[in-house]
Amino acid sequence: FHLRYFQAGQFIFHEGEASDRAYIIEKGSVDILVADNQEVIHSLSAGELFGEMGVLDQSVRSTAARAKTKVTLLEIKPGQITDRLTDTDPIIQALIGVLLKRLRALLPKNGEQQNDDLLSHVASVIEQSGLSKFRLESELRTAVNSEKVQTVFQPIVDLNTHKVAGFEALSRWFHPKLGVISPFEFITLAEETDMIIEVGSLVFSRAIDLLSQLPESVFISINVSAKQLNSAEFLPSLSQRLKNQGINPARLKLEITETMMVDINQAATWIDRCHQADFLVCADDFGTGYSGLRQLLDLPFDVLKIDQVFIQSVLSNSVNITLVETMVSLAKKLNIQLVAEGIEDKSQHQLLKDMSVDYGQGYYYGKAISIPDILAQKAQ
Ligand code: C2E
Ligand code: CA
Ligand code: CA
Ligand code: CA
Repeated sequence: FHLRYFQAGQFIFHEGEASDRAYIIEKGSVDILVADNQEVIHSLSAGELFGEMGVLDQSVRSTAARAKTKVTLLEIKPGQITDRLTDTDPIIQALIGVLLKRLRALLPKNGEQQNDDLLSHVASVIEQSGLSKFRLESELRTAVNSEKVQTVFQPIVDLNTHKVAGFEALSRWFHPKLGVISPFEFITLAEETDMIIEVGSLVFSRAIDLLSQLPESVFISINVSAKQLNSAEFLPSLSQRLKNQGINPARLKLEITETMMVDINQAATWIDRCHQADFLVCADDFGTGYSGLRQLLDLPFDVLKIDQVFIQSVLSNSVNITLVETMVSLAKKLNIQLVAEGIEDKSQHQLLKDMSVDYGQGYYYGKAISIPDILAQKAQ
């Protein structure tokens, strides 16, 4: 997958060709040539990146690349580079532009001496930008296509009845060498490119599958990212998928983290669109962001999820008790449901129940488990 092989002496690309790929050398070594293939300016070996310059500034190849030995290359698609570039600060974009110009000026023309030190310095600066990240990203792509990215579901319990009311869908990546990779890592990685759309789509398929096998009263909460909410197809296609299965959209709660709500107007638009499609919207990690409480409460959320940092110290920290009490009284007034996350023991459960929080989620009730495990428990 995305690996390419070349024999010694074979050209990978020529000067003047379109720059449609960059590469990381997995095995073997590669010569970079200028001046009509007369001069080798660089020999690169395993772990090094090349071919990125033309991709970065969308120009034709200013060098050629030739396999020095038999080589294995990992292909980097232009989107993996350009998606990030268009997402970065305009000043960084400008700086990269300047660096590239300097770098090009340093490339020796016919018969000229090259300035090796500066060239390798600039090259190493560009290289710092996370080659291992590119590799991990390519692996994530493969993992998504081969079911190595799985979805597990953590129970959300009604604090009054102590019964499971719903589940939160959480992603897990089972990596062959690195083991289980935390969603904190790979969701961030996926969010930097359009991979999050694919990962998200997988999560929705599995959630819909589970919903279709559970009673009508059970809901599923799903984490969504800004890229998904900004995509024009996202909500319509989700509605269509639910309709095809005959599932009520109000059984899905879309979780938006507080860190995504820096722009209140943007957040209001998202919530509005979700409501038009009949989905419920949940403010996740409530209390951890920088947004003012007042501003947040102006947004028409259906559910607030109190972040686990408050819950886990709720017994030992009186400030947090007051905070949770305030959230409860506000939520009741505004008719918003409350979920406390990260409940790990009985005393936390009892306290939050006494404070009349509606729902609880945490290791005390159970960790996230697979669909077959949920169905097996249900059958018991
Ligand atoms: P989150 O939405 O705040 O999810 C809750 C996290 O807290 C989960 O971590 C869960 O396993 C963990 N947790 C639950 N109960 C307890 C508890 O009692 N104690 C402790 N210490 N932790 C508990 P996880 O699964 O590692 O997910 C991390 C974050 O990654 C999630 O935080 C969510 O923001 C993000 N995420 C996970 N899956 C997806 C996904 O499919 N899409 C998107 N966009 N984000 C996801
Ligand atoms: Ca969440
Ligand atoms: Ca959360
Ligand atoms: Ca969190």
